[in-house]
Amino acid sequence: MTIPQARLTCIDLHCHSRASDGALTPTELVARASERGVTHLALTDHDTLDGLAEARSAAEEAGIELINGIELSCQWKSQTIHVVGLDFDARAPGFVAAVAEQTANRWRRAAMIAERLERLKVPDLLDRARALADGDVPGRPHFAKALIEAGVVKDTNQAFKRYLGTGKPGDVKAYWPALETVVQWILDAGGVAVLAHPRKYKLTATKLRALVGDFQRAGGQSLEVITSGQSSGDLGFLAELCRREGLWASQGSDFHFPGAPWCELGRIPALPEGLVPVWQHFRQPVAGQSAAISR
Ligand code: MN
Ligand code: MN
Ligand code: MN
Repeated sequence: MTIPQARLTCIDLHCHSRASDGALTPTELVARASERGVTHLALTDHDTLDGLAEARSAAEEAGIELINGIELSCQWKSQTIHVVGLDFDARAPGFVAAVAEQTANRWRRAAMIAERLERLKVPDLLDRARALADGDVPGRPHFAKALIEAGVVKDTNQAFKRYLGTGKPGDVKAYWPALETVVQWILDAGGVAVLAHPRKYKLTATKLRALVGDFQRAGGQSLEVITSGQSSGDLGFLAELCRREGLWASQGSDFHFPGAPWCELGRIPALPEGLVPVWQHFRQPVAGQSAAISR
């Protein structure tokens, strides 16, 4: 007698393609996810929706579910915070416009850094930095590399000390919209707002609770309880926070490029007991968990 094998679910709700700072095209990313057994994938590129259409057709081809995603940068007090949006309507006009503005915002900052460093007379500095950022919006580390390559400075340290560090000409602050604003964008597009990798901000437990409180008041519904490279202590802390605040739990690898075994598509431990998975609240709820069902 053969026993029918139930299909296992493997859910990865955070990863990046070349549409932002990932190494793979959306097609390559989806193929890799599928090979690694992922059944439900959200592509969450930084501040852009550009990779979603390609990822969607690749997912149809591969027979896996693609969930609309994005990772939005925002400001909370003096901190840059990342909010993942999931399962929104990617064609909602207000959302599309807000994201386009956000993308433009990132490029404006890069252009301003290049402009401030014009007197160094490095030809095509912005293009060079962009190439070093693999086509994504370059940040100060990419400008540092470009300055080293052009022979203006000998190392990153010197680049920051002279030109890019605090108070230097290339020290252009990123101005992101407020936490409340980006959460509202996601909600207005019918999506779920997830506070991404909450332990990555290096906040004290008290500050993190304050952040979570403000996030919830803004309408945020979910915490990313599982992310790569996190200790079991962090996982326990976040699971507890999630339970106590009645937040839904999300999980994702935050995969950017192959070759980092600690951060791989679909490599996700089981969600701790007693948590409400965010995917139960998707417009098309995903049934089951990453567990084998045998009868
Ligand atoms: Mn990234
Ligand atoms: Mn992030
Ligand atoms: Mn990310």
